[in-house]
Amino acid sequence: MDQHVIDEIIERNDIVDVISSYIPLKKTGSNFKARCPFHDEKTASFVVSPKKQIYKCFGCGKGGNVITFVQEFEKISFPEALRKLAARAGITVQQTIGSKSKDSKRDLIYKIYEIATGYFYKNLIEHGNNALEYLIERDIKDETIKKFKLGFALNSYGGLRNYLLKNDINEKILATTGLFTFKNNDLFRERIMFPIHSSSGKVVAFGGRKLYENQSGGKYVNSPTTDIYTKGNELYGLFDTKYTISKKDNALICEGYTDFLRLYESGFTNSVASLGTSLTDSQISILSRFTENIYMLYDGDSSGRKAAVRAAGKILGKGLNVKIIGLPKTDDPDSYIRNNGASSMQEMIDKAKPLAEFLKDDEVIGVDKKGKLSVLFDILNEIEDEIAQELLIQDIAETFGLSEHAVSSKIRKKRRSFKKETEGTEISEIEHFTEERAIILLIINNELLYKKVAQEIDLSYFLTEKYRKIYKIILEHIEDMGNIPALISKIDEEDTRNMLTELSMSDIPTQTIDDAIIALKTRKFHIDLKIINAEILNDPTNMDLFTKKNELKREILKINKKVVRRTLY
Ligand code: ATP
Ligand code: MN
Repeated sequence: MDQHVIDEIIERNDIVDVISSYIPLKKTGSNFKARCPFHDEKTASFVVSPKKQIYKCFGCGKGGNVITFVQEFEKISFPEALRKLAARAGITVQQTIGSKSKDSKRDLIYKIYEIATGYFYKNLIEHGNNALEYLIERDIKDETIKKFKLGFALNSYGGLRNYLLKNDINEKILATTGLFTFKNNDLFRERIMFPIHSSSGKVVAFGGRKLYENQSGGKYVNSPTTDIYTKGNELYGLFDTKYTISKKDNALICEGYTDFLRLYESGFTNSVASLGTSLTDSQISILSRFTENIYMLYDGDSSGRKAAVRAAGKILGKGLNVKIIGLPKTDDPDSYIRNNGASSMQEMIDKAKPLAEFLKDDEVIGVDKKGKLSVLFDILNEIEDEIAQELLIQDIAETFGLSEHAVSSKIRKKRRSFKKETEGTEISEIEHFTEERAIILLIINNELLYKKVAQEIDLSYFLTEKYRKIYKIILEHIEDMGNIPALISKIDEEDTRNMLTELSMSDIPTQTIDDAIIALKTRKFHIDLKIINAEILNDPTNMDLFTKKNELKREILKINKKVVRRTLY
């Protein structure tokens, strides 16, 4: 394909428009920011520059233009991304774009899932009398069937297989699609089909529910892992609800397909289903691109509640906010709404409780107070993020009327190992690299920033030796900063001179200075908190340490609104 066509595709697809159709962007100065969709993070270090038409993550380093974004986000090939963007801009390109590599196999599997989705849907409408009746009986609207492309797999060993062959799909690839048994029979037979879409809207797997109670096999059968699908990586419904989730800035997570569809039909269009009862870390990461506020809306029975508690622990550990909704023990969201209506469900959501309080009040799981606390301590020990841990400690202490000290004594083991860790080696340099470099680059390139930064940031914020050195020089030579070449000649050490030259020639980060300062401070607080916790462990009766820790916590909360989950929603 001609370079000028590619150029045209780039020109006609504004990067801000395109990226904001995938993730929410916030305007900051002349740029836009978001939490990076390519790595897991709590602060927004993903920056989109409308002027330069590029994006860059200062956390993970990923960057590029509108095409690479679509490619990476949708996990599609370059030609596919081009085609998509061309179509979006109304540019016609010849079908010659195509690649023969691994991508083409994935593309083919996507295509097969698309054909299969159409086939199952057609079956449902044309031959699925009993299945349609079943769906009607379950009160699932036609509209919903269409929207989520529900379907029906006939009671046939070769229906899908023959249909694909008729559609010119090469027989050899079928075995890798996950749609057939090792004997080449259709995997899904006589089942209601729920296509599972990736967050960008492609069908990547199916869940099939049996139609009759006495039918063989589990209630649900799911596609296995394939080249386009990893179990536990998708959230059912997200492709359709991600906009509402980001607009409302909260999400409801339920367990099942039918729960999701009922919620959606009832106006709770900020829902997703985790499919099964254990929410995975990767599901949490995906969802966290759209919101930081999560409601667990699992089944009301003991196993649903236990799973909700476990999930809530994981969510807190990722630095997000979570509340749990306790449905009556015989209900799931589907039955609850059917029996009590949507407004009653809304009331349940309004009554959702934070983790510790939910457990304290719970009467279904069936453990006593001691047991509940031990569940919470286990969760506490699973959490690695020091601030998240601190907030949960506070929460448990307040909810159960214990001292924070008593609660934190339960995580002794973890902290000891951190202490050992810090006694030995220095904390990895790379870990501190990006934030420190960003600050330096920003001040080197903007004279107006020196004073502001110098006031807020002292040398102790720099943990990487090389950037600490440079920052020291900057502080000592504030008055020379307007003239870097002159400054360079005042520095004796060659390494530092080279370093400063390299920095003054580098690209300026698109981050704002305020964000760069917050990132640097937050990181320092994390470390200080770890250190003080280790000190408290050595000297548990020293009240000065507690005072110091409380001051530190106040500081943390002051600069980082994101971690103030108490005041949230
Ligand atoms: P229904 O309302 O159709 O009976 P449900 O959604 O209430 O189904 P649950 O038994 O509550 O079903 O299970 C919740 C979710 O867990 C299901 O929607 C499905 O995603 C998953 N699941 C349940 N049973 C199985 C199974 N045997 N194999 C795979 N996934 C399952
Ligand atoms: Mn259920």
